[in-house]
Amino acid sequence: MTIPKKALDLRPADIPKAGRLRVRFTGVVQGVGFRPFLYRSAKRYGLSGTVRNRGAQVVLEVQGGRLREFMRHVGDNAPPLSHIEGVRWEKIRGKKGKEFVILESEGVGGEEVMVSPDIALCPACRKEMADPRDRRFAYPFTNCTDCGPRFTIIAGLPYDRPKTTMKKFAMCPECRGEYNDPGDRRYHAQPVSCPNCGPRLRLTIKGKMQGGDPLGQALKLLKKGKVVAVKGIGGYHLACRARDPKALERLRRLKGRERKPFALMATMAMIRDHCRVSAMEKKLLRSPQAPIVLLQARPGDRLARLSAPGQNRIGFMLPYSPLHARLLAGMDEPLVMTSANIADEPILFDDAARELPMLCDAVLAHDRPILSFADDSVMTVFEKEPCFVRRSRGYVPLPIALPFRAKKTVLALGPMLKTTFAFVDGNRAFVGPHIGDTGSNSALVAEKRAAAHFMKLFSLRPSIVAIDKHPAYPNRLLAASFPGARVVEVQHHRAHVAAVLAENGEKGPAVGIALDGTGNGDDGAIWGGEFFVGGLAGMERAGHLRSVFLPGGDAAAREPWRTALSMLDAIGADRRAGRLAARFGRKGLQVLEAVRERRGGAMSTSCGRLFDGVASLLGLGDLNSYEGELPALLQAEAERARPLKRAYPYALHKEGGVLVLDLLLAVESLLADRRSRAEQAYRFHWTLANAILDMALALDREAKTATAALSGGVFQNILLLDMTGELLARNGFRVLRHRQVPANDGGVALGQAALAAAGLK
Ligand SMILES: [Zn+2]
Ligand SMILES: [Zn+2]
Repeated sequence: MTIPKKALDLRPADIPKAGRLRVRFTGVVQGVGFRPFLYRSAKRYGLSGTVRNRGAQVVLEVQGGRLREFMRHVGDNAPPLSHIEGVRWEKIRGKKGKEFVILESEGVGGEEVMVSPDIALCPACRKEMADPRDRRFAYPFTNCTDCGPRFTIIAGLPYDRPKTTMKKFAMCPECRGEYNDPGDRRYHAQPVSCPNCGPRLRLTIKGKMQGGDPLGQALKLLKKGKVVAVKGIGGYHLACRARDPKALERLRRLKGRERKPFALMATMAMIRDHCRVSAMEKKLLRSPQAPIVLLQARPGDRLARLSAPGQNRIGFMLPYSPLHARLLAGMDEPLVMTSANIADEPILFDDAARELPMLCDAVLAHDRPILSFADDSVMTVFEKEPCFVRRSRGYVPLPIALPFRAKKTVLALGPMLKTTFAFVDGNRAFVGPHIGDTGSNSALVAEKRAAAHFMKLFSLRPSIVAIDKHPAYPNRLLAASFPGARVVEVQHHRAHVAAVLAENGEKGPAVGIALDGTGNGDDGAIWGGEFFVGGLAGMERAGHLRSVFLPGGDAAAREPWRTALSMLDAIGADRRAGRLAARFGRKGLQVLEAVRERRGGAMSTSCGRLFDGVASLLGLGDLNSYEGELPALLQAEAERARPLKRAYPYALHKEGGVLVLDLLLAVESLLADRRSRAEQAYRFHWTLANAILDMALALDREAKTATAALSGGVFQNILLLDMTGELLARNGFRVLRHRQVPANDGGVALGQAALAAAGLK
């Protein structure tokens, strides 16, 4: 979990009782109210001295008689958003003067740099917005040292106003007064502004600027069921009434999104009308990171049916910017707030984006530029712990600590879907924002730009570029943009396992289990149900799922009925296969023929396709309108069942020196099972969990690692993760799972970078 640690042990016994100390703080210590906090703390203990930002550090000099108490206070009460990575102090010679002053920032090169992520509207600012006597009453751009945009507006370091996109707004005398007053809660809050001097809202319809009150007009349009693009913190959202089926249908058409769930924004009270919210989920929703949290919908909830067809979870977030708070207050009902983009392209954040007016009826924007995009982060709670589905706004660009120190700087460009990039530098990894599907040119441009921005911010110069082994992934073209860097290919599923090892601070060895959609294997075949033995220094493929023929290759990922047909053929259910093929007319019969003759397709060990096929055989659908749709429906179906812990039969056998797990036997039994569909779905999950355990036990008999590392998109399925984790733990395994990056392809870049860096001799 990347929520910053608060308490820091400063071991006061080492610190002199009196005199003058120079203390250097590193970590996220700029732009989070750290200097005013030190100022107030020094005053409190009657100390004189200075504090300044120096490069990425905060350098403090304090003098007086209560140094130990002061340091203990600093350790215990550091601002909530600071993330102190290191503290070094030395005794220095005393100086004259009784004052404590905050000095100008100094820039220096070649230091370890940290940038704060963007932070949700804080309670103090929220209170001011609601107070008609306050000069920032209802002000949609309010912020302070504890909240507001950071990463998305920062052009360079040290973090000061001229190096943010706020530089074009000259502060009015009142704002300047607050900004310069160390006792004020807006002291050196770089985006500080007010209605007199700050950014302004504007509403455009088909590119034409509208007069009058932009927010009032946007609310009117939303109430009429229109789709309004709203400029947020890390990009534009498309907003509409969540309870209006017509508005939703229109939004789906505009975005080219048939059934994929939409995220909703609502107040806590509204959320409770539709979902059960646990204490941890509430904490996460209200955290400074303010992610989208996938919450269990109440049975039969209409809003869930509309926003997330077939699913039992709704993705909700709270209004996290002051503008969002105004919108929600004006609507009094949940809003769809989905990233403004086409299909899985990157979020639109440039005001001049030509696509934007085509996606909506009106655009509610403002003149504070967004420099770096950041989609909303998405999380679920698993065993009272947050789990990433997407790591972006609120978390990026905080680094992840690694279990080794890299000799060279590595940039990994990620896979093709749910792409992120990652840098490994020293013992830290910087994982970039969610980019999306890099099949489009705009995604490649976005990835290149964002990676270049990270290089500038964090002074990174990669000498190695890691890419996916797949010869046709478009983002491998970006490797040429880093001349002089050596290109290293990393196999997709090894990257998955490396990611889960690295973020857990482990080098291995372990039994690595990567259950996934698809990725290119060592042999060029489509892998996706892989078992490895090894660690960051290298891993051997030691087992896999039995291959299934995928008629049409990639087409099977979009049309799971093809996989279902192939599975029926493989188990010899010829009559059933014939009936299924007939449902698709001539095309169906052609596919069946291709299956029987094993032509026009590929063999695959993909676990995602196995879920596709089973879901399709259980009648949950024929097509994936988005990646992982049918597997998600299969999970939702299983979660409705009474837990029947009886596995279907399956088999393990050796083939070519590796262990093969045959689950087609289970599919055969499942088809003969007369229980309800929900129970069949549940038993399928239980079977897979038991089979994974058997594979892990068999592989660890020789390897003796007693550690199992779980990764891959299939482990986003928390029912399966829960069953598997429990079975492995009960059988003596230490189970490593994802906590800081997603189990899906959003975590792959970290693993690519970690493997490329750790594998260097
Ligand atoms: Zn605030
Ligand atoms: Zn002002």
